[in-house]
Amino acid sequence: MQGARESQTVLVVGGGIAGITAAVEIAETGYDVVLVEKTASLGGRVAQLNRYFPKLCHPACGLEINYQRLRGNPRVKVITLATVTAIAGERGRYSATIVTTPRHVNARCTACGDCAKAATTQVPNAFNCGLDAVKAAYLPHPMAFPMRYVIAPEVAGTAEGQAILAACKYGAVDLEEKPTSFELTVGAVVWATGWKPYDAAKLDSYGYGRVPNVVTNVEMERLAAPGGPTGGRILRPSDGREAKHVALIQCAGSRDYNHLPYCSRICCLASLKHAAYVREQYADASVDIYYIDIRAHDKLEAFYLKLKADPQVRFVKSKPASITAGEGASPVLHGENTLTRELYDSAYDLVVLATGMEPVATGAKLPQGLPVDDYGFVVPGLDEETGLAAAGVASGPLDVSMSAQSATAAALKAVQAITAGAGGRA
Ligand SMILES: Cc1cc2nc3c(=O)[nH]c(=O)nc-3n(C[C@H](O)[C@H](O)[C@H](O)COP(=O)(O)OP(=O)(O)OC[C@H]3O[C@@H](n4cnc5c(N)ncnc54)[C@H](O)[C@@H]3O)c2cc1C
Repeated sequence: MQGARESQTVLVVGGGIAGITAAVEIAETGYDVVLVEKTASLGGRVAQLNRYFPKLCHPACGLEINYQRLRGNPRVKVITLATVTAIAGERGRYSATIVTTPRHVNARCTACGDCAKAATTQVPNAFNCGLDAVKAAYLPHPMAFPMRYVIAPEVAGTAEGQAILAACKYGAVDLEEKPTSFELTVGAVVWATGWKPYDAAKLDSYGYGRVPNVVTNVEMERLAAPGGPTGGRILRPSDGREAKHVALIQCAGSRDYNHLPYCSRICCLASLKHAAYVREQYADASVDIYYIDIRAHDKLEAFYLKLKADPQVRFVKSKPASITAGEGASPVLHGENTLTRELYDSAYDLVVLATGMEPVATGAKLPQGLPVDDYGFVVPGLDEETGLAAAGVASGPLDVSMSAQSATAAALKAVQAITAGAGGRA
């Protein structure tokens, strides 16, 4: 990197709530930011949530405020469908290799939806965890940023692709678009690559994927969401029956040395929220929460106590041993109540596994390697020598407000790194 010029631009990798927050905070301080997001739209996992605990407000509110800040700030350049594959250099003069995947739709798109009308092929809907399908010309989700369609690669080179091209009166469809790779010079990097759900199929005795009507907590968010596969009604995936008798299993794989040894901090709160979803929909519903201990940190204790006061929400101190398929596609939980010592074999309409958050690997070749802890989370502190910082769940299990706080801290660290020795703003 000898001779590369000093840069005061910050690269933010990952466009979830943490990456978006870091990007707008840096830009509003007066520095240029490039925000790179792997998927077709910003928002990350938060966009998939139905509501936020504890107030049960809609995540779109929190995201939309940040989108407004992004729209109004020319200092932020957003690149979607892109990843960083390598970074070389040093603080003040990093060279980042960015690789993009074709969207096949350019900035002329008005999101009118004519392309989707011309499409016939269905592809799995990743936003709804594959619980339903979308047309091969699709909007990633109703609150997508940018609000722009995507043409699935499956149809790009086909007669259907040509029909989609012909249907667009704005000239926005580009079937010839190819992957690109380019270099970017930046002064500092914020890693905000977030989390993925722990793979429930690894919890062999819980039968996920094998026993009908066993879903994960992320799938539950989509089952309850108006834009989800069931239009927001909590129904059983196997037969569409109303799920009124529901079991929520805490620490499914978490705090377990065979799976995730740590606590993801948010699962208890997320399950309490899921109990609230079910109770809100069905007056005669009953929810059983199987727990080791409930971890409702700081002021979120009040949310726990509210749900605990509901006589139709029962807390069972037990980690179920196994789940089997019962009559009428009803999953049956087997285990022991550790307070009463009673053995149970309890059937439910639906079982939700509270799987934890696992860090997403950065996937990039790095000059000196990012320091990661024993669990793969990036160590958040940025030392001014490297100009590399971490924000949000990339740095450890956090809820949304904590992710935003850590992003603000990372933004400040990044600004300090690009101004160190440079006498302030260029
Ligand atoms: C079931 C469940 C319910 C929850 N409910 C709540 C709630 O009600 N309230 C609350 O406060 N918290 C809740 N949380 C926690 C919340 O989801 C996280 O705090 C939040 O997602 C953290 O945001 P983030 O930006 O750090 O990560 P993410 O949301 O994971 O965003 C990371 C982004 O980075 C992108 N990315 C990843 N790798 C790359 C790469 N190599 N290059 C470019 N981009 C990349 C991803 O595509 C993604 O868009 C819940 C969690 C779970 C599991």
